[in-house]
Amino acid sequence: MKENNNKEDSNSESQVNYINQLREFVRLLALKAETDDKMSSEILDILLKTDPERGISDEEIEGITGYRQSDVRKVLRLLYDARLATYRRGKHPETGATRYYWYIDMRSVGLAIIRRKKAVLEKLKSRLIYENNNEFYKCPKDNTRYTFDDAFEYDFICPKCGSMLELDTNEQYIDILKRRISLLEEEIKQDENKVFGS
Ligand SMILES: [Zn+2]
Repeated sequence: MKENNNKEDSNSESQVNYINQLREFVRLLALKAETDDKMSSEILDILLKTDPERGISDEEIEGITGYRQSDVRKVLRLLYDARLATYRRGKHPETGATRYYWYIDMRSVGLAIIRRKKAVLEKLKSRLIYENNNEFYKCPKDNTRYTFDDAFEYDFICPKCGSMLELDTNEQYIDILKRRISLLEEEIKQDENKVFGS
């Protein structure tokens, strides 16, 4: 009994965590696409409240938010391209014209979040390889960092301020990278268990 309760608690907790990650994801998508991020998050919230069995049309979203249908469609397209939102085809209740009813499929959200984390993981890993394989120099005044090749090119003198460059030990940075990589790997494993079932 007690175990069951704990399990439920941690499930709803991870659900909240998922939705927060989804919000952050959408915010970044909107920024990247230069779409209003406030509008995007409002539309996301409506979709999150929408019954996936029914979905919601762009016209209905316009009616709720007051945003123009063309803007609503832009956001829906953004969510669709990131495989966060999807639609089913239906008929307009009055005109009978084809309508698209949008909804969020939490399983595909899970997959999209995993995909995004894996892309970050790859970047961290190649950064780690880069840090391990290179020697770095640093300006003691402005902290600008140079690779050995660049530092050599500048005769070990900072091109910004003329200070002598110093060897930068990157062990601490390497440790941080390693820690972030293992945390992210652990997170991805947990997310995969959630999406695919453990
Ligand atoms: Zn400098």
